[in-house]
Amino acid sequence: MTSELKIYNTLTREKEIFKPLNAPHVGLYVCGPTLYSHAHLGNCRTFLSFDIVFRYLKHLGYQVRYVRNITDVGHLESDADEGEDKIAKRARLEKLEPMEIVQLYAVDFHKVLDDFNLLPPSIEPTASGHIIEQIEMTKKIMENGLAYEVDGTIWFDVEKFAKTYPYTELSGRNLDEMLDGTRDNLEGQSEKRGRLDFALWKKAKPEHIMRWPSPWGEGFPGWHIECSAMSTKYLGEEFDIHGGGMDLIPTHHTNEIAQHQACHHKSPARVWMHTNMLTVNGQKMSKSLGNSFLPHELFTGSHKLLERGYSPMTVRFFMLQAHYRSTLDFSNTALQAAEKGYQRLMNALKLVGGLKTSDTSTCRIAELKADIYNALNDDFNTSVAIAGLFEGVRIINSINDGKDTITTSDKDLLQKLFKEITEDVLGLKEESGAGSDKVDGLMNLILELRKDVRAKKDFATSDKIRDELLKVGIQVKDGKDGVTWTSN
Ligand code: AMP
Ligand code: ZN
Repeated sequence: MTSELKIYNTLTREKEIFKPLNAPHVGLYVCGPTLYSHAHLGNCRTFLSFDIVFRYLKHLGYQVRYVRNITDVGHLESDADEGEDKIAKRARLEKLEPMEIVQLYAVDFHKVLDDFNLLPPSIEPTASGHIIEQIEMTKKIMENGLAYEVDGTIWFDVEKFAKTYPYTELSGRNLDEMLDGTRDNLEGQSEKRGRLDFALWKKAKPEHIMRWPSPWGEGFPGWHIECSAMSTKYLGEEFDIHGGGMDLIPTHHTNEIAQHQACHHKSPARVWMHTNMLTVNGQKMSKSLGNSFLPHELFTGSHKLLERGYSPMTVRFFMLQAHYRSTLDFSNTALQAAEKGYQRLMNALKLVGGLKTSDTSTCRIAELKADIYNALNDDFNTSVAIAGLFEGVRIINSINDGKDTITTSDKDLLQKLFKEITEDVLGLKEESGAGSDKVDGLMNLILELRKDVRAKKDFATSDKIRDELLKVGIQVKDGKDGVTWTSN
């Protein structure tokens, strides 16, 4: 028997048995990217973690509506609602329309997530496509007395809100300390009454490009309100799971909950899930720290931190070896180990269908299955589930070597388990590049022919073969120990 699914809820700080509000339907909302530049590998880790949540819930038979938004307006340079809009700034610098910037990076973002084999969400709404909903929500919060206008900008009144609702419930911070720590700093900031107050709607300065009419004049929405408006629109006033990276807890998610409560008098999501950070030498990978690299740099090995390139499935496997709530430190050594591990897993997957069967089984497949499902049910613990799969790899190799035996029904169970967990739940797939049987076979043939022409001193043809292969991304190297090739 396998256990029930338990999810760690940031709100209650406990692992809770997952009970959807309206089974078999599940509503899942994840804060998506701000498309002002390329997504880096840290961003990908967060979206990959929620891809596992989406895949596993579907695997368990739930009908999941997965909403992941695109922030294309309103995300300012600082969390304190100051600075320029990130997208507008990029548009100004590159002399492009803001929506050209968004489109450019949206195409790139989708391509990268596709390379990593992430399933597309059910709905991918944009902030700029939901201005009306954001204005309506802002109006309601004002009607409820929890927001005020100063010269065309609408501020959320945190101190007043906190008199009725637990503002720091999610972050666990001490509100009095937060208020004391900021009260003195308000001088010179004429507009808002409290330093913790945040903008629901901002008045557009004359030079601001992205602007819409509103009851308070021309302006644009604040960052947090978009997620509240879009999650309510597509998942209802109360839904099952809301997720994002841990760095969103203190401001973005805290404010999302506050806005929602100020508008609808209830909390939006029952379960809040947060992923931990991808780090480089222990430091959070981030664009501003300059330690981030882009997925294509990882695939080609072109970044200075990389000894060589790693395939998307190697990287996917590397990330899944850590639990989503643990930090994951990037290193070449770890990626090289992941590459080997991933290949061993894929080889076992190929072997399992052809295993010879016997009248008796010397291996306990039902137990292995229970172990793997128990791990996934324990807050999506892919790390332990992968350890279980490797126990499966050991069993498969041992049967293949004739050291263990398996019955037909156990073999069917093992094959189904391996296929479903590896491909459907973990989303790992055979790569068509280096490593696949067909490509390996073709490359062996081409390099044999090249060896023949070199033996005949036909170096022109030999070089042509090398150059043409390079054009399709395959690099041939003539070394001391023979010819090797790599693919990117
Ligand atoms: P952004 O586009 O900056 O709003 O980030 C998109 C998502 O990526 C958010 O959920 C962030 O929490 C997450 N994120 C940013 N940096 C990292 C990192 N180094 N590791 C994991 N997730 C991250
Ligand atoms: Zn959000």
